[in-house]
Amino acid sequence: MSGPEILGLSAAAAAAAIADGSLAAGELFELYRARAASDRAAGDDGLNCFTWVADEGAAGAGGVPVAVKDLFCTKGVPSQSGSRILQGYLPPYTATVVEKLEQAGSGVLAKTNQDEFAMGSSNENSAYGPVRNPWDRGRVPGGSSGGSAAAVAAGLAPWALGTDTGGSIRQPAALCGIVGLKPTYGSLSRYGMIAFASSLDQAGPLTRDVADAALMLGHMIGRDPCDSTSLQMPGPILAPSAESLSGLRLGVPRELTGDGVEQGVLESFRAALATAEQLGAEVHDVELPHAPHALSAYYVLAPAEASSNLARFDGVRYGMRAEDAQDLLEMYTRTRHDGFGPEVKRRIMLGTYALSSGYYDAFYGRAQRVRTKISQDFAAAFEQVDFILTPTAPSVAFKLGEKTGDPLAMYLNDFCTVPMSLAGIPAISIPSGLSGGLPVGLQIAGPAFSENGLLDAAHALELAIGFDSGAARV
Ligand code: GLN
Repeated sequence: MSGPEILGLSAAAAAAAIADGSLAAGELFELYRARAASDRAAGDDGLNCFTWVADEGAAGAGGVPVAVKDLFCTKGVPSQSGSRILQGYLPPYTATVVEKLEQAGSGVLAKTNQDEFAMGSSNENSAYGPVRNPWDRGRVPGGSSGGSAAAVAAGLAPWALGTDTGGSIRQPAALCGIVGLKPTYGSLSRYGMIAFASSLDQAGPLTRDVADAALMLGHMIGRDPCDSTSLQMPGPILAPSAESLSGLRLGVPRELTGDGVEQGVLESFRAALATAEQLGAEVHDVELPHAPHALSAYYVLAPAEASSNLARFDGVRYGMRAEDAQDLLEMYTRTRHDGFGPEVKRRIMLGTYALSSGYYDAFYGRAQRVRTKISQDFAAAFEQVDFILTPTAPSVAFKLGEKTGDPLAMYLNDFCTVPMSLAGIPAISIPSGLSGGLPVGLQIAGPAFSENGLLDAAHALELAIGFDSGAARV
């Protein structure tokens, strides 16, 4: 096979070619490794997708190599979560999901750039510089898994691992024109994921197509004794094969498909609904009355959990330490002052305030009650429909710098994805088309553990939509 032929293979097709002997795993690894290394060497002239790339001669693991978001601990390999405070941190162990991928043959090709501690929607909060969108280098790739999304879209990695707390897999997948899946909370171990908000953080695949997402997910699921919130899925993840949606009832929530969503995104969304009907689905209105409050609840809960999780970065145990401090307190404060970026500090302050004594019930307690209401809304909706469809993000990729001065405008990017995160249910983003030459994402969400059905529905829609991502390849 020629280089361009190999690069044209999906991860599943490459795995099949390795299995039947028509492709050597070492050749596949080196081809992508060299591409990733040249992006890294290009610095600002490249996409800045990677914070680390495997050395030439690295063996791989006999299968399809994977790019891994920086916040997954990888033994002996820098794992910095996009933060200066973890610069040069070499974990003594590897995250469970990465270990499982390695066991399935996927060696770590590279670590991908991300927003600091996964806080962001544009990848502009990384201490290692912003990532660029391969569709338009003047625009953001989305975040926080922006490096993973851009790498897959540009063909610099066959597939990639990301994490999603409020949308960080789905939103960058949408802005980069690829597939991103946030599975049911708990279905993948969080052991070895550098924590942001533990009750929401979930790993998942960023891939070229839905079949690859199913394949990668299948390699990673399983209860892990090292993560007490991890769960056993009811059965294996199957390769999606559906070509029709006949018999399926799809719900469209008015609350997430109107105000605030860009015109071009809504047009692409409506076209996808028409396609779904042509494929045999029934489309119904559903109500998620509390969904408009999801962002407010999220921006209490996630910062509260973050303020607690990030207390461990004190200059003693990991990464950087401020030099020549006069005493211990000064060492703590200077390390955290120099090590954390502005968004992380903003969240630590918000979260610490929300949890402070006397305020707990007014903020954290109330946000938890909103979270329960949102879960109940979904449960009621799933009595009427099988899956819920929304746009993934309210806009296409925006310009670098466009929203950095306005945190609230940035937070609105997650308007459509946060409700599913709070409810812990699975949701996938697939490309639904282009608006102004930039990709638009379609989000499909289902009840907990509905991954096989969700992947099948996404696969049928993907086939019918026939999105062409060729323009993003470098
Ligand atoms: N953009 C959201 C935030 O900044 C979600 C991030 C994520 O899912 N990790 O918190």
